[in-house]
Amino acid sequence: MRIAIAGGGIGGLTLALALNRRDPGLDIDIFDSVPEFKPLGLGINLMPHAIRALDELGLRDQLAAVAVEAREFAFFTHHGQLVHREPCGLFAGYDYPHYSIHRGELHTILYRTVCERIGADHVHLNHRFTGLEQDDDQVRANFADDQGRAHETFTSDVLVGCDGINSGVRKTFYPDEGEPLFHGINMWRGVTRMKPFLTGASATRIGALFLSGKLAVYPIRNYTDGSGDQLVNWVAEAVTDEQSPCDWNARGNLDDFLPIFEDWTFDWLDCPKMLRGSDFVLSYPMVDRDPVDRWTFGRVTLLGDAAHPMYPRGGNGGAQAILDARALAQALDEGDDPRDALREYESVRLETVNRIVLTNRSAPPDKIIEVVEQRTSGERFDRIEDVISADEIKHIHEGYQRVAGFDKQSVAR
Ligand SMILES: Cc1cc2nc3c(=O)[nH]c(=O)nc-3n(C[C@H](O)[C@H](O)[C@H](O)COP(=O)(O)OP(=O)(O)OC[C@H]3O[C@@H](n4cnc5c(N)ncnc54)[C@H](O)[C@@H]3O)c2cc1C
Repeated sequence: MRIAIAGGGIGGLTLALALNRRDPGLDIDIFDSVPEFKPLGLGINLMPHAIRALDELGLRDQLAAVAVEAREFAFFTHHGQLVHREPCGLFAGYDYPHYSIHRGELHTILYRTVCERIGADHVHLNHRFTGLEQDDDQVRANFADDQGRAHETFTSDVLVGCDGINSGVRKTFYPDEGEPLFHGINMWRGVTRMKPFLTGASATRIGALFLSGKLAVYPIRNYTDGSGDQLVNWVAEAVTDEQSPCDWNARGNLDDFLPIFEDWTFDWLDCPKMLRGSDFVLSYPMVDRDPVDRWTFGRVTLLGDAAHPMYPRGGNGGAQAILDARALAQALDEGDDPRDALREYESVRLETVNRIVLTNRSAPPDKIIEVVEQRTSGERFDRIEDVISADEIKHIHEGYQRVAGFDKQSVAR
């Protein structure tokens, strides 16, 4: 069987490796619009469900060598007061760790492994997907270079659209969908080299959007030069009418959001110092798309952000693409007719992931902080127990884990 993958991001490369693991005899070709892969992006969280899938591909040691193994989730109000902390990954009794990692390093590991196992000549860069035709027997995909010049048409048994939030493959089936949806929240992102804070491996969330803004902060690299420094990833969110371009590499301005966090100086973290210390700032709108009820059309299906772009909260953008890849490789391996296999993949994944898309809008993993800030009207509290009970915290936190599929039972399954 010959399989064409449009888009060599996290989902596309993981799919290639998952297919190759199940059947090394498959013909797999990956096409990406960029002329060169660069280690782009900033931090990504890979929870135990995603690590389990990457471990099956034999990548765990490589990931462990460059990632920070997170020890705990920690939630604070904008005063820096602790709302809740609890262990994660192996420290919480999972069979798999939780890694916080630079997306560029994750992508480099996947790309290097694809080149080793499948061959660099199967990765076609400067190939932008432009259109497709299919009949009962085959699918023909068209690609063009960055000047818009057409490459030869590529014929395969299956085409998988892994071409991200602005997917061209998705547009073929949803031509009137328009741009990703912006609901008035922007994200500014950066990385700062600094000394460790809290446990040195805390996935931390601070503040609530309805008050002013919020921060997600976690280390993604331990420097091995004896300095004891870490590379700390931060994402600042605030409400705004202005939409930045939907481009993961677009630059942003510190002055546009620093005033919100100017007095967030805690005894455990100096937020303004951390934000000022970043080499650069990227700006990206909080966008997603409304869930659709179909990803599979004959010999073509969608995967990752092309299928279900979601708010990049809770580490699920990358993780769900990885889980899609695992499920699709399994369905193709176990099915006879590829068209049935694509439908089977969709039936396993679609409903679950669409629920995460909606939950990330309404009840993200830091919902606990919002509840506390609302009950205290943003004032300091004396005892957290007087504001929210341990049971309620557990209910909110575990509820998100269940929807996102990284509660202990789901990972074990
Ligand atoms: C450069 C970049 C930086 C990112 N940085 C972050 C980050 O810091 N934090 C975060 O949470 N998420 C980030 N993301 C998004 C994150 O990688 C995805 O949300 C998630 O991993 C799902 O993966 P995916 O493979 O579906 O999409 P992506 O990882 O976005 O991969 C999509 C791939 O498709 C390619 N492509 C796009 N259009 C076409 C086309 N017409 N034809 C062929 N190829 C095409 C792109 O070049 C890209 O390689 C980034 C994505 C990119 C592309």
